[in-house]
Amino acid sequence: MPITPLMPVYPRCGVRPVRGQGVYLYGEDGAQYLDFASGIAVNALGHAHPALTKAIADQAATLMHVSNLYGSPQGEHLAQRLVDATFADTVFFTNSGAEAVECAIKTARRYHFANGHPERNTLITFDTAFHGRTLGAISATNQAKMRDGFEPLLPGFKYATFNDLDGALAMIDDSVAGFLVEPIQGEGGIRVATPEFLAGLRKACDEHGLLLVLDEVQCGYGRTGKFFAHELYGITPDIMSVAKGIGGGFPLGACLATEEAAKGMVFGTHGSTYGGNPLAMAAAGAVLDVVLADGFLANVEAMGARLRASLEQMIPNHDHLFDSVRGHGLMLGLKLKSDSRRFVEHCRDNYGLLLVSAGENVVRILPPLVVDETHIAECVEKLSDAARVYVPVSDD
Ligand code: PLP
Repeated sequence: MPITPLMPVYPRCGVRPVRGQGVYLYGEDGAQYLDFASGIAVNALGHAHPALTKAIADQAATLMHVSNLYGSPQGEHLAQRLVDATFADTVFFTNSGAEAVECAIKTARRYHFANGHPERNTLITFDTAFHGRTLGAISATNQAKMRDGFEPLLPGFKYATFNDLDGALAMIDDSVAGFLVEPIQGEGGIRVATPEFLAGLRKACDEHGLLLVLDEVQCGYGRTGKFFAHELYGITPDIMSVAKGIGGGFPLGACLATEEAAKGMVFGTHGSTYGGNPLAMAAAGAVLDVVLADGFLANVEAMGARLRASLEQMIPNHDHLFDSVRGHGLMLGLKLKSDSRRFVEHCRDNYGLLLVSAGENVVRILPPLVVDETHIAECVEKLSDAARVYVPVSDD
C-alpha cells in the first residue's frame, strides 16, 4: 500500500465531519453527532458561533496578516485584556499549544540565564504529562509512546511523580529552573493535582528562586469553570502556556508570564511569523468577549456540576463498566473498568456521541462550554444506552 497523502500518523476513524452547528457535528454522509469532544477541548463556543465567525470574516476582509516587525494594535489590545484578567504582565502569541509550551520553556531557561545562572536549566516535569509534539515538548514528558525513535531528545528535564510533592521536592538541586505541570492532566487521564501538591510546588519555587510553569493548554480558558484552573487552587504561576479554547477553533496559543519571569525575553530572543496576527487576534477577541461575559464561567461551573451529578447517578446502573468520575467543570473524566478507547468507539459508531479516550482507561468528556441542560441529558442518555448493551473485553 502506498503511503496516504495525509501522513498516516493518526488512526483516523470513520467520522468525517463537514459541518458543525452548536454542539453538533455533521458527517459527509449527513450523520449527526453530539460533540462532547470539542476538537479536544478547543471549540469552547461550539461550532459556527455567530460572533466568532463574523469576527473572523470581518477581519479577513480587512487585514489578515502582517509581520510582527510592525506595530500590532490588535495584539496589544488582546494582550492587555489577558493581562488584566490574569496574573500575567506580558503575553507572547503562538499558533499552537506545543509552541506555547516551547515559549514557556525558553522563558524559564532565559530567566535564570539573565540572573547569571545558566546552569539552572532543568525543568522538573511529571509522569504521564502531555505538553505537545515538538522535540522540546516530547522531551518534557516521560511517555515512551511520544518519545521513542525521536532521540536524541532535549536535555534539561527530570521526571517526578504527579501529586507526589515530596518526590518532586527531593529532585531540586542547583541545575533546576522550576516545575512544568498541568494542574489537571488531560491526555494523562483527567488527573487532578491535589491542592497540597500545587501549593507545595508554589512554595518551593518561592523558597528556592524557581519558576512555576503551568501548562493550561487543555484545562485553561474557562474549561473548569474558572478562567484558568490554577484559580481553583488559590495560587498563581510565573509562566503559563495556553492554547485550544483561546481561539475557539482558530489556531492560536499564548505564553503568559510575570514581568519578573519574562526578564530574559528581550529583543531577538523569540519570534513567530504568524503568532498573534490580526486574524488570530480577531478570533480570540470574539472568544474572550463570550468567556468573560457576566455569568459565562458560572454557567460552565453549573453545567459541569450537573453533568457530573448525572454521571455519578448513572454509575451504579452500570457498575460492570463505570468506576468513577473525576475532573472539574466541563473537563470531566469517566474512569472505566476496562479499555476506554473501545468504549469511545462504541459510543461514536453506535450512538453518535463523540468523546475522547485518555490514559488510565478514562473517557474524557469535554463538551463545548456553551452546552445546556438538554445536551447534558442527551449525552447521559446516550452513555447509559451505550453502556447497557456494551460487553467489555478485558484483554484488548
Ligand atoms: N499541552 C497540553 C496540556 C495539551 O493537552 C496539548 C494538546 O493536547 C498540548 C500542550 C499541545 O497542544 P497543540 O496540540 O496545540 O500543540
